[in-house]
Amino acid sequence: MKSKIKKFIDLVKERNQFEPEFLQAVEEVAETVIPYIASQKIYNGKNILLRMVEPERVIMFRVPWIDDKGEIVVNRGYRIEMNSAIGPYKGGLRFHPTVNLSILKFLAFEQVFKNALTTLPMGGGKGGSDFDPKGKSDGEIMRFCQSFMSELFRHIGPNTDVPAGDVGVGGREIGYLFGMYKKLRNEFTGVLTGKGMSWGGSLIRPEATGYGTVYFAQNMLETRGDSIEGKTVTVSGSGNVAQYACEKATQLGAKVVTLSDSSGFIYDEEGINADKLAYVMELKNEKRGRINEYVKKYPKAKFFKDEKPWGIKCDVALPCAIQNEINSDDAKTLLDNGCYVVSEGANMPSTIDAAHTFLAAKILYAPGKAANAGGVATSGLEMSQNSLRITWTREEVDEKLKNIMSDIHASCIKYGKRDDGYIDYVTGANISGFVKVADAMLAQGVV
Ligand code: GLU
Repeated sequence: MKSKIKKFIDLVKERNQFEPEFLQAVEEVAETVIPYIASQKIYNGKNILLRMVEPERVIMFRVPWIDDKGEIVVNRGYRIEMNSAIGPYKGGLRFHPTVNLSILKFLAFEQVFKNALTTLPMGGGKGGSDFDPKGKSDGEIMRFCQSFMSELFRHIGPNTDVPAGDVGVGGREIGYLFGMYKKLRNEFTGVLTGKGMSWGGSLIRPEATGYGTVYFAQNMLETRGDSIEGKTVTVSGSGNVAQYACEKATQLGAKVVTLSDSSGFIYDEEGINADKLAYVMELKNEKRGRINEYVKKYPKAKFFKDEKPWGIKCDVALPCAIQNEINSDDAKTLLDNGCYVVSEGANMPSTIDAAHTFLAAKILYAPGKAANAGGVATSGLEMSQNSLRITWTREEVDEKLKNIMSDIHASCIKYGKRDDGYIDYVTGANISGFVKVADAMLAQGVV
């Protein structure tokens, strides 16, 4: 079996030589799914995984715009339309200077499995740009978004491809993108999700990824007769996902002691309660400031420059920042300090070695494609509300989100429970997502 997996990975490597993040995402799926394919006759000889690692379409385009000094800037725009077997392409847009083909292909590949897990009819895609929103004026952000959409609009649509936010793309950017799409197409449709409430957005969409990650942690703890109440929680990141993970964990009685950004992390031993979180939200969302300002406001807290929060003792870790933020040393430190629950709010925050370390220690470990699927799931609910032209209440959407997270949890158990009772959520999520997409691909022929 090992040589079969290696042969497959070598082939993908040869064809995608300069794409380390994409190869990492493929490897993690291949090592769990290939043994399953071998055990199931219907998938034998169909090269399904080989078809899945090849995007259906990759769009790359020039994004020229004019900055506040009147200079012409050129960025690169992308949309990876990865797989549409079970629904229109769906997935976020990332604006960050590190964005390249490898990062977006890894995210699009993960998205295919994640979206399949949500139980909703959504294919997988991802896009974005190497544009850096940091320090840009509102006018610059708007002009960039308009230029980006002036090309993207011809490739997307409510039944074709429905983008949303990701790192660097929030409500403000979705607004500018939507405005330009509407102008160019002369159509008001649910072509993007994460929209504002007065123009087609869904309640709970901003909260959904962070809330879902905590609901999933709670589901995992329940399998051991435990709960998140009273637990000490470390969270990385301080953007949309981290903020609402912090909020929900606190509401459920846990104590969140860290948040971070690219400048370092803050440690507040007393816990980041609702008032402190409101300050962080204002700091990050309105003022667009840095996390170290937290310690000026709350001097009992400490700031650790250029460090990650994984050395702080905790029961539960919620990585909500970025890919590969937990390496194998970080994973060992977390385990040594007694951490026994890791629920990933970010996409692929653990390296392959870190993930193996968690699994070997048999802790409750949920990969992002299961634990952070609440965001895209609620985007799916936004699409349904747009199609029906109705608005569900906060309570209705939250209830649906909770149910989706526990359905994802159940399907991870279905495919990931080992003979000794340990639940391998990585294997469970990968196989469950694979089966749904693979069965649709088989039914639709070689296309
Ligand atoms: N970017 C988010 C994710 O990684 C959300 C995507 C969406 O809502 O389409 O799943």
